[in-house]
Amino acid sequence: MSRVSNLLVATLALGLPAAAIAQQNDIQVTPVEVTDGIYMLMAAGGNIGLSVGDDGAFIIDDQFEPLHDKIVAAVRDAGGGDVRFVLNTHWHGDHTGGNRLMGEAGAMIVAHENVRRRMDPGTFTDVVGNTGQAPPIALPVVTFNDEVSFWWNGEQIHATHVANAHTDGDTIVWFRDANVVHMGDNFFNGMLPFIDVDSGGGIDGMIAASELVLADANEMTKIIPGHGQLSGAAQLREFHGMLVTIRDRIQTHVDNGDSLEEIIAAEPIAEFADMATGWMPVERFLGLVHRSLTE
Ligand SMILES: [Zn+2]
Repeated sequence: MSRVSNLLVATLALGLPAAAIAQQNDIQVTPVEVTDGIYMLMAAGGNIGLSVGDDGAFIIDDQFEPLHDKIVAAVRDAGGGDVRFVLNTHWHGDHTGGNRLMGEAGAMIVAHENVRRRMDPGTFTDVVGNTGQAPPIALPVVTFNDEVSFWWNGEQIHATHVANAHTDGDTIVWFRDANVVHMGDNFFNGMLPFIDVDSGGGIDGMIAASELVLADANEMTKIIPGHGQLSGAAQLREFHGMLVTIRDRIQTHVDNGDSLEEIIAAEPIAEFADMATGWMPVERFLGLVHRSLTE
């Protein structure tokens, strides 16, 4: 696991404010060129998608507020000017934490309607437990409930909602012409994923999200995961297969009337143990899958 991923894990696990980690000088925003005019920016939160071109910079997710200046600099370095659009794949703070400063700088923030509902002041609780912290300027100003397309930088950027997957407000974003897709946190490349059951997420929805992307993907498709390295269809197929295997095994235990304790004791996903992280150990993941199949 990379140093960046470890920092993310430490931040989430310890509940450290994002500021505490982002002030550390060793957090850099690393641009990965995906294809002509499209980049993935990696730092301490969810991977950022970036389109640059004649129309201006369009970004998918914006990580943490203290990284704002570094993200803006990386956008400029990639040939983008001011950020014109921010599309949030979901409401978690490591994907929307930069919204306030992006909004103040004039970017149009767009997301599924449940992202705005969950971030609305008074209801906002991020994954590290901060509540009521999202000011109005950080909220999406354009919301949609099914799908929306941006005709931008010579591309159709096609955003599709996937229901009850990582959360209840997830969006998958296709660059249709470039054959690139950003899956938000419906794809953790090489890791057991987080399923935010408290935010309406569920394993069946995550499996469906993978299937939706695989139906349109080919061997040339570049896939930006919410966390982990840039990927392709082969890795997503592997991830999807793992989720199906895990769901089926836990469902069998549930059908047998086994308790979560009995399921954990049976070690039903031992062959995937090396995909566990400090933040998502096997026991926690099994608990989330169990809840998503029984609640
Ligand atoms: Zn997330």
